[in-house]
Amino acid sequence: MRAAVYEGPRTVTVKDVPDARIEHPCDIIVKITSTNICGSDLHMYEGRTSFETGRTLGHENLGQVVEVGSGVSKVKVGEYVVLPFNIACGFCKQCEKGLTNYCLTMQPEPAKAGAAYGFAEMGPYQGGQAELLRVPYGDFNALRLGEDAAERQVDYVMLSDIFPTGYHATEMADVKPGDQTIVYGAGPVGLMAAYSALLKGAGRVWVADHQPDRLRIAEEIGAIPIDTGREDPAEVVKEATLGLGADNGCECVGYQAHDPHGKEDAALTLNGLIDAVRFTGSLGVVGVFLPEDPGGAEAQGELEGQGKVAFDYGLMWFKGQRMGTGQAPVKRYNRALRDLIAGGKAEPSFLVSHELSLDEASIAYEKFDAREDGWTKVVLHPDGPSA
Ligand code: NAD
Ligand code: ZN
Repeated sequence: MRAAVYEGPRTVTVKDVPDARIEHPCDIIVKITSTNICGSDLHMYEGRTSFETGRTLGHENLGQVVEVGSGVSKVKVGEYVVLPFNIACGFCKQCEKGLTNYCLTMQPEPAKAGAAYGFAEMGPYQGGQAELLRVPYGDFNALRLGEDAAERQVDYVMLSDIFPTGYHATEMADVKPGDQTIVYGAGPVGLMAAYSALLKGAGRVWVADHQPDRLRIAEEIGAIPIDTGREDPAEVVKEATLGLGADNGCECVGYQAHDPHGKEDAALTLNGLIDAVRFTGSLGVVGVFLPEDPGGAEAQGELEGQGKVAFDYGLMWFKGQRMGTGQAPVKRYNRALRDLIAGGKAEPSFLVSHELSLDEASIAYEKFDAREDGWTKVVLHPDGPSA
């Protein structure tokens, strides 16, 4: 089968690899029809992680079931399914609590938790930027889609990661109807966080970034854009709230946060958030920060090279704020968000800028990594572009 394979820093090649196959009775095999490139793929693409060369990327996957193992009873061949990027067993201590983002069974290292397709440090699983994907515990992990699946797959594929992840950021930030919410980052995740806050009935949502094309999308969905090249988001928000700050906020950038001139500073958005949110407000941090970041020393300094961030804990403590962090438990939200899409209440495909064939993966990575103007979200179709 064809697959987008990581071959070293900034090199992704589409080539033939062995077909995905059933390895355990509970596995299913999915013929991938839509698979996204994610901001998280770029951490691996840029060579900033331990991701091994020769592995297939891709953790945002949707497709049609073509084979099921003998232990699979719910999912049927022919059904369209969307797969949470988290791979979970459903029966470990963490999964029983709904924490499928930190499953103990699927992570082979006993002292670690959490697994994902085609992801550094998240188990040995191949990614779905390929013609076929092996899905462990298919009955538990696959979310089945309705009759409109094929036609609306560009909406539904967002359920694999960024829609639930953006939603999770607003859950950790405790966004409620009427709230005033600030979102750092207008990438796909930030836009989904802003969209989720608006779906929840937030009164006012600001989105901060320095990329005009992305800020334009934020404005189109009803958020207030803040261009960090011209204004300090914390000042804008405080000025609009009698100096108090937003009720809550979401961090959707991560350790590669940089100033508008491109200089990296992993603490920038965390400190901005603490400043912009009022006393006792909650912060939802879904942007990725890593315990080790060899590239960080080069780009930022010694502290960052050790995966550490000089964030303003003193001010956070003084303000009595709370912070939620980590990978999103996609399964907690994907069913309800699917039904919002099916019911015509949500249309997350608004952020898709490019639908390409799998064979165009190399160029897509290059453009997306360069955050080239107009490249907001790329969906790859291994069976050829749909539109
Ligand atoms: P992205 O790289 O496309 O978007 C990041 C955006 O942040 C860019 O538009 C960039 O211009 C902006 N930015 C950079 N520095 C900034 C600053 N100082 N202030 C404001 N904006 C700034 O990535 P994405 O796909 O939107 O993902 C965002 C983050 O979320 C990444 O770290 C990604 O790995 C992470 N993520 C986490 C989860 C999870 O489960 N927690 C899931 C998916 C993605
Ligand atoms: Zn992702």
